[in-house]
Parts: sequence; structure tokens; C-alpha cells
Amino acid sequence: MEDRFMNSSFLAEDSAVEQSLRPHTLRDYVGQKAVKDSLGIYIEAALSRHDALDHMLLYGPPGLGKTTLACIVAAEMGQNIRVTSGPAIERPGDLASILSNLSTGDVLFIDEIHRLSRQVEEVLYPAMEDYAIDIMIGKGPTARSIRVDLPKFTLVGATTRAGQLSAPLRDRFGMLFRLEMYTPEELSMIVKRSAGILNVDADEEGLLEIARRSRGTPRIANRMLKRVRDFAEVRAGGHISRDVAREALQMLDVDELGLDKVDRNVLGCMMDKFGGGPVGLDTLAATTGEDAVTIEDVYEPYLMQLGFLMRTPRGRICTPAAWAHMKKNMPASAEAQIRMEI
Ligand code: ADP
Repeated sequence: MEDRFMNSSFLAEDSAVEQSLRPHTLRDYVGQKAVKDSLGIYIEAALSRHDALDHMLLYGPPGLGKTTLACIVAAEMGQNIRVTSGPAIERPGDLASILSNLSTGDVLFIDEIHRLSRQVEEVLYPAMEDYAIDIMIGKGPTARSIRVDLPKFTLVGATTRAGQLSAPLRDRFGMLFRLEMYTPEELSMIVKRSAGILNVDADEEGLLEIARRSRGTPRIANRMLKRVRDFAEVRAGGHISRDVAREALQMLDVDELGLDKVDRNVLGCMMDKFGGGPVGLDTLAATTGEDAVTIEDVYEPYLMQLGFLMRTPRGRICTPAAWAHMKKNMPASAEAQIRMEI
């Protein structure tokens, strides 16, 4: 029954290739220095006390390495990882079943933890705090609750939206780590490592070109590496140089900053239909035909990181840099809007 919610073979869903690209130790995990430094200390301390690690919350946009880090934590602690996700746990009983099947020291990874329902969350509170769950026996006036002890485990929660987590849940995590977007140099190291694993022939400049256009995101960098490799094999004798990478990425509609068709559609819509904003998220979703959550979680973080988009209480606004990148003239009304916001 447990298998309905747990996916211990979740890595099988990832292709075998994807799996081979995941680093397995903290040392091989590129970037996120502050997170790695703290985690390294906490892991060492927990190991020397022969204790489980405190619960931790990892947050940040998709593809930045939250799942990878959870697997590394389990490996570094010498423990097993059990993987599930918020939407997979529909009822409190589902979670109770997962928890009561854990072994001492296990790492329980819950992806998209912000999507747990309130009732399910309530099962987590005593589990996180006292390593126990309360189970109701019987119904009606004779119903009573009994407390069942759990083994000491470590919960690793991941979310793209820390703001949507309820305060009681957030407060029960001993560690909160925010993953940052990666620099082109860090991404370059990641694709270099991946190119080695995948046996891809590429020079430093070719790899840096891929890294620069990967929106600060390792998952995108690895995906682009594979697409550029295909292009190189068919058109360039298998070698990835800077020119080959440029040509391949152009064919994929990825521009020199890593923006794709959707980013340009979002910016273009804001500029052409709303004079650069402010425009609300739902209106933007309706006019671009994209899902509001996808815009907010996937596209906006990078556009904001580039300084192309500003979030204001009245909606999103395109900055002068965005107008310049889209090669459109910024109207005086848009300039006035920006001035009002600053
Ligand atoms: P998330 O869970 O945040 O969506 P993942 O952990 O699934 O992201 O990471 C996506 C891919 O990116 C992984 O397959 C992994 O190969 C790669 N990756 C992520 N972070 C790093 C890192 N710091 N160093 C090397 N590779 C990474």
C-alpha cells in the first residue's frame, strides 16, 4: 500500500542518463557554498553524536538541485532516502502509513511540500516535533486517539514557494536553506562534469556558451548540453565549440541570455498589450496562454534575476533593460510608471 505514495524508485522516472548526472557527494555538488558549508557542519555534528539530522526545508525555483541535495544528505549520513511529494499524499492516513514505515535515521523527502493539505500537515507536526503520530481509533463518542512512536527520522521538505507554507509547518524545520541561481562559471563546471560522464567532446568555450544560456539552472544546463550534443553529432562531427553551441541554441530558439519563446512572449505581451505594465499575473497568464503558476515559478524568477521584471503591488512591470533586450522603444508612459515605483 505504501508504494502508492512512496516512490523509492523515483530515479527510474528520471532517465538513467539523468540519474548518472546527479552528484552523489557534497563535494561534487557545485555552487551553493553557504548551504554546503552549513550542511557540512550539521552533518558532521549529527554523525559524531550518532543522532539524526534536524529537519530541513530547501526552497528555490525548480531544477536548482533540491532533490539532488536531499539524496546527498541521506548518502552523507549513511542513511536511506524515501521520496514522496505533497500532491501524492492525499489523506492523513497516507502520511501516517509512510511515517510508520520509516526506519531509524531514514531521510524522508517530500517534494512540493507546500501542496500538502491542512489535515495532512497536522499529522506532520507531532511527527516532526516528538517523533510520534496520533491515530484515531473508532468513531463517534467512543473514538479515542492513541499515540504511536516513530523512529527518529529527518524530514527534508522542498518547495518552490516558501511563502505558501503555513507558519506552523515552516517553524518546525530546524534548518531553512534557500538555493540560489548558479553563476555561468558554476554552470560551466556542472556541464563540464556532465560532458565527461556523457562522453561528449566539447571545448571550454562551447561549454561556457551553454552555461551562459541556461538561466542559472543546472537542469536546463544539462538538458541543453544533450540537445547541443545531438546537433554537434549531426552537423559538426560531434565536437561542441562556441560556434556550434551558438548555432544549436539559436535553432532551439534560446537567445544569448537564455530567454526562450515563452519568456519573449511574456515580455512581448506586456509591452505590446499593456504598455510594459503594471499587469496582474492572471491577466498575463490569460493573454499569453501560459499557466499562472508556471509563469510565477519558472519564468519570472529568471526574468527578475536579469532585472527585466519588477513585481509591484499593482502588478508586473517591464524594466528599461527588458525593453532594450526586446529591441523595442520604451514609451514615455512606461518610463513614468517605473519612476512611480522607484
Ligand atoms: P530540483 O529538485 O530543485 O527541481 P534537481 O535536484 O532534480 O532539482 O536537479 C536537477 C538536475 O540538475 C539534477 O539531475 C542534477 O544532475 C543537476 N544538478 C542540480 N544541482 C546541481 C549541483 N549543485 N551540482 C551539479 N549538478 C546539479
